[in-house]
Amino acid sequence: MTMVDVHGVHKSFGPIDVLRGVDLTVDPGEVVVILGPSGSGKSTLLRCINHLEKVDRGYVRIDGELIGYRLVGGRLRELTEREILRQRTHVGFVFQNFNLFPHLTALENVVEAPVSAQRRPRAVARARALDLLARVGLQDKADAYPRRLSGGQQQRVAIARALALDPKIVMFDEPTSALDPELVGEVLEVMKGLARGGTTMIVVTHEVGFAREVADRVVFMDDGRIVEQGLPAEVLDRPRHDRTRSFLDKVL
Ligand code: ADP
Ligand code: MG
Repeated sequence: MTMVDVHGVHKSFGPIDVLRGVDLTVDPGEVVVILGPSGSGKSTLLRCINHLEKVDRGYVRIDGELIGYRLVGGRLRELTEREILRQRTHVGFVFQNFNLFPHLTALENVVEAPVSAQRRPRAVARARALDLLARVGLQDKADAYPRRLSGGQQQRVAIARALALDPKIVMFDEPTSALDPELVGEVLEVMKGLARGGTTMIVVTHEVGFAREVADRVVFMDDGRIVEQGLPAEVLDRPRHDRTRSFLDKVL
């Protein structure tokens, strides 16, 4: 069984071909780390997976379900906004800049989506949110507003929020890139915990140590394509392509 199936995906912005035929599958419980230089299309790939960007060619399936479209009489028809939002509830997304709601407390940030998108009773959503905040080590910060939290704490709230809808997969786009170096570790520890707990994860990061320790598979992207992929030790220690080697020489 496959949890995520990215098949032959192309995406252009005007004249720029950002994704030039990407195939990627992720199994349930698998942790895939995507490495690659800036501009290689990593963020665009993640955004295509939950239809924040529309693919030009190819398709994405999550747990067997076609994302963004349905087949009608042999042709693809885009889903309604409402259907797309429902599909997005299956995908947690953690961004570089946290993107917390500044006017909501940590707890309210985690409660918001289950109540508004899934119509869960607020009391149920609150209890679950408190569990999730405890899981990221922030049970004592439930009533704090984001501006009162460090970057690492804000990102941990964002992770709790991403888990609140019980997603089938969680995607991370450079989750530690905006953090002061001393705050990176606490976020990576939370992510390691999720990985050990069997969460299906796609992680774009330059943290090669995290990739080595946690990834089931490392994917190297360059110029809109997957150049190579394999076990962390294969890709990180014995890259087969010059482009992978020169990238790793820069980040290691
Ligand atoms: P990465 O995450 O690997 O750094 P991105 O997916 O963000 O790469 O971007 C890949 C390329 O696509 C870059 O050249 C970027 O400028 C371009 N790009 C991304 N999003 C847009 C957009 N909405 N409009 C135009 N160009 C874009
Ligand atoms: Mg990016």
